[in-house]
Amino acid sequence: MQPKQQLLSLRPYKPGKPVEEVKRELGLEKIVKLASNENPYGCSDLAKDKITEELSNLHVYPDGYSAELREKLADYLGVDQDQLIFGNGSDEVVQILCRAYLSPETNTVMPAPTFPQYRHNAIIDGAEVREVQLINGNHDLEAMLAAIDNQTRIVWLCNPNNPTGSYIPEADFVSFMKRVPSNVIVVSDEAYFEYVSAADYPNTVTYLNDFPNLVILRTFSKAHGLAALRIGYGIANSTVIQSIEPAREPFNTSRIAQAAAIGALDDAEFIKTCKEKNREGLKLFYSFCEDKGLLYYPSEANFILLDVQSDADEAFDFLLRKGYIVRSGNALGFPSMIRITVGEEAQNKEIISHLETYIETVKEKVSK
Ligand SMILES: *Cc1c(COP(=O)(O)O)cnc(C)c1O
Repeated sequence: MQPKQQLLSLRPYKPGKPVEEVKRELGLEKIVKLASNENPYGCSDLAKDKITEELSNLHVYPDGYSAELREKLADYLGVDQDQLIFGNGSDEVVQILCRAYLSPETNTVMPAPTFPQYRHNAIIDGAEVREVQLINGNHDLEAMLAAIDNQTRIVWLCNPNNPTGSYIPEADFVSFMKRVPSNVIVVSDEAYFEYVSAADYPNTVTYLNDFPNLVILRTFSKAHGLAALRIGYGIANSTVIQSIEPAREPFNTSRIAQAAAIGALDDAEFIKTCKEKNREGLKLFYSFCEDKGLLYYPSEANFILLDVQSDADEAFDFLLRKGYIVRSGNALGFPSMIRITVGEEAQNKEIISHLETYIETVKEKVSK
């Protein structure tokens, strides 16, 4: 009854306590969750309309090819329809890639700290994981290149990186791609693509012809606000897509998810507004950090990783008692930092005022 050896070293994903339970335990009236980088403004009404329409088809299996969404998205991105693969969240595309390319004789190169699912899936598939530490929150692309050898199958880039929010500029991306052997897959995970405003952020889709080994991951979970429905996608050259398709379950994305994604793609205005409000929210956090002399990473995503000059779990507990759930950096590889999802303006202001109180108490303790 023993599972594969490599599973013994892994722990299942630990979800946070249910909000209702925390409320009861702490006697709180409201709880705001700023922990999972969800969109505080929900999703587009156009997505909701499509979901309603689809309710009459619940007895029918989904289209395993996602033909309608595929056509729409290919058009939207300016790629061919056979350059796309859909997943039950981009999480599943990570899993599909690992299944397709990784085995015990192989290795895979990734930054650290980063999104944990690359490592998790690679270990299940028995591959050696080569983690390259970030420098100042940024990918160490030189060291990542040096870690590649004949047994390397996948290199992961997280752009912008979760949990730091930092990004790889276009020039660095291109020179990196030129130096990676063309038989090694490079995954550019762009879960926060819609939030990015840096002018030198690469539009990687335009590089697919130059680099046949490039796979881009995007999702409807974050800016599009459809996390509950689990739909994300990969973009790559058709030969890569064709070779990984057998590792995908035939009905992996639901009718409701496909329909919602189609609606979401029509609402550029929604994305634009969310992006702008997110920028404004980030600025509030930046100026708070600068006022208080707290270290933070400038973010191209919808979250901020900031230093609390104390144990991250203590800050987490303090904020929880005030009704705010954040991510403690202890689990993320940053033991004195917390990751806060940018919320609505009032939420941002309120959590900042709680943080201010917290930082004062930390400073008092230190000075005693
Ligand atoms: C949230 C996130 C994902 C997963 O998104 P889903 O599409 O919901 O599975 C992938 N990569 C990164 C870096 C993320 O932060």
